[in-house]
Amino acid sequence: MNKKVRVRFAPSPTGGLHLGGVRTALFNYLFARKHNGTFVLRVEDTDQNRFVEGAEAYIVNCLDWCGITPDESPAKPGNYGPYRQSERKPSYRKFAEQLISDGYAYYAFDTPEELDAKRKEIPNFQYGQATRMQMRNSLTLTISEVEELLAAKTPHVIRIKVPEDEIVHFNDLIRGDVSFETAIVDDKVLLKADGMPTYHLAVVVDDKAMEISHAFRGEEWLPSAPVHILLWKYLGWEADMPAWAHLPLILKPDGHGKLSKRDGDRLGFPVYAMNWTDPKTGDLTKGFKELGFMPEAFINMLALLGWNDGSEQEIFTLAELEAKFAIERISKAGAKFDFEKAKWYNHEWIKQSTAETLQKPVKNELLKAGIEVNDETFLNTVIELIKDRCTLLPDFVAQSGYFFAAPAEYDSASVKPKWTNEKAAFFEAYAENINLTNVIDAEANFKTLAEAKGFKPGELMLPFRIMLVGGKFGPGVFDIAILLGAAETQSRIAKAIAVFNS
Ligand code: GLU
Repeated sequence: MNKKVRVRFAPSPTGGLHLGGVRTALFNYLFARKHNGTFVLRVEDTDQNRFVEGAEAYIVNCLDWCGITPDESPAKPGNYGPYRQSERKPSYRKFAEQLISDGYAYYAFDTPEELDAKRKEIPNFQYGQATRMQMRNSLTLTISEVEELLAAKTPHVIRIKVPEDEIVHFNDLIRGDVSFETAIVDDKVLLKADGMPTYHLAVVVDDKAMEISHAFRGEEWLPSAPVHILLWKYLGWEADMPAWAHLPLILKPDGHGKLSKRDGDRLGFPVYAMNWTDPKTGDLTKGFKELGFMPEAFINMLALLGWNDGSEQEIFTLAELEAKFAIERISKAGAKFDFEKAKWYNHEWIKQSTAETLQKPVKNELLKAGIEVNDETFLNTVIELIKDRCTLLPDFVAQSGYFFAAPAEYDSASVKPKWTNEKAAFFEAYAENINLTNVIDAEANFKTLAEAKGFKPGELMLPFRIMLVGGKFGPGVFDIAILLGAAETQSRIAKAIAVFNS
């Protein structure tokens, strides 16, 4: 690679960050790390109508949570700022005007009413080669008419003049040679009446100004590519054009169409990285983070949506992904999203994480449930004991609550039908003679006593578990008892006997 690698994630701050957006950011990040390059966050906020308060800060938080913090961004400017397009507004007009003087663009003065009328007159109206000569623009008006309209500050836009019957080719790093017939490409607006550029002009001007070497973006931007390729050429910058890579779509679970936020709502899984509250409606959309995903698992899952390293390996740390990521192994085909598989990744990550790594998020979950833990050594032991049973972080609460408080309720239905005075007597005796030195001795002690009283130890294990835990779940019952300690175990036995006897 001869050019210095500079890549950009260029979201529009219009709402929650879809997991497809995070994957685009991730692939940019991985490519930058792999090639000692720079990962830039550029905020594409030129569409004032779609601007949403708080969306930019939210995007930044999502990237931070995922551990893929940009090297250059509005908050951490490098030498290519500003990093918000709205702040670059003065830089665009001259390029739009240069395109006009070179014959590649034109002023269009059509009012919204005139455009509406045309849309009614011509079904599927496109402002382009077939219609542009019927419209009010600098191609159809005389020079002096145009000058007058401009002098009178008549609202106008600048449109690209897409060439007639040409084929625009480019090489996509994922798709190979891609070509478009210009006959189907409309004359996109480049500069709007408010003086703001549209995405099409801004993306090209900024990729050039920021010396972007590779542009990774979702496949949904492929139809816009011919306009961008033409602009690179018309502005005389072809030699500096980034290499293109359009990432495969993330599909609905059934494979039919792009995964949308609505699919998540309909099928009951998150699509956004983090909780997003719409500032206008107050509506909350849940995110992966708050549902209890570890960021390591979330990005691991995303990396494998459309990419693999050629082996069967599925679990990758971010460092491994940074080392192994290769564009050649991104697939062309869309990747189906599978929420069960996403949970599988999280479960695997919880299992392989140390108690130290899990401690902070677990403490947080417990706190949300009103359980404050100060003894971190004890918490680490608990985490180690139960982590294999937890798929999402909140599962730690259900799986560990009984370590921090005696059960308030018991699954009595599982005990009472077979509860006898003899069993009560056994547990009273057991509590008095309890030995919790280690699991082997604890188990032997329990069995010996059970057999001496004429019980099969098996029929006493379930009541014992329910006494300590409240229900039929959890790790080995002697592991639990040892961790609770003799005094607490004795007190729980006594309390439960009273409940089962009543
Ligand atoms: N602003 C576009 C978006 O919201 C960026 C597309 C691109 O990367 O060119 O996704």
